[in-house]
Amino acid sequence: MKKNACAKCGGILVKQKIDYEKKVGEKRALFEAVPASVCTSCDEVWLDAMVAEKIEEIFNKSLKPTRWVKVPLWSLSRLT
Ligand SMILES: [Zn+2]
Repeated sequence: MKKNACAKCGGILVKQKIDYEKKVGEKRALFEAVPASVCTSCDEVWLDAMVAEKIEEIFNKSLKPTRWVKVPLWSLSRLT
């Protein structure tokens, strides 16, 4: 695999700390300061296998979070 090239569009990848949301059914979780490679062309986010595994592990084990955040939610179900 070529390093620093987006596998989707061939664009340039830049290492960044990102916010990442994981959602499986009703269960969702936020991760911050996640080391990732972000494509400067298509904004695709690539996680290292190690990082992805870590997120998976934390999510599945429901480990104690660093902190809790309240997220506002608006339903637009009446729009259509
Ligand atoms: Zn790309």
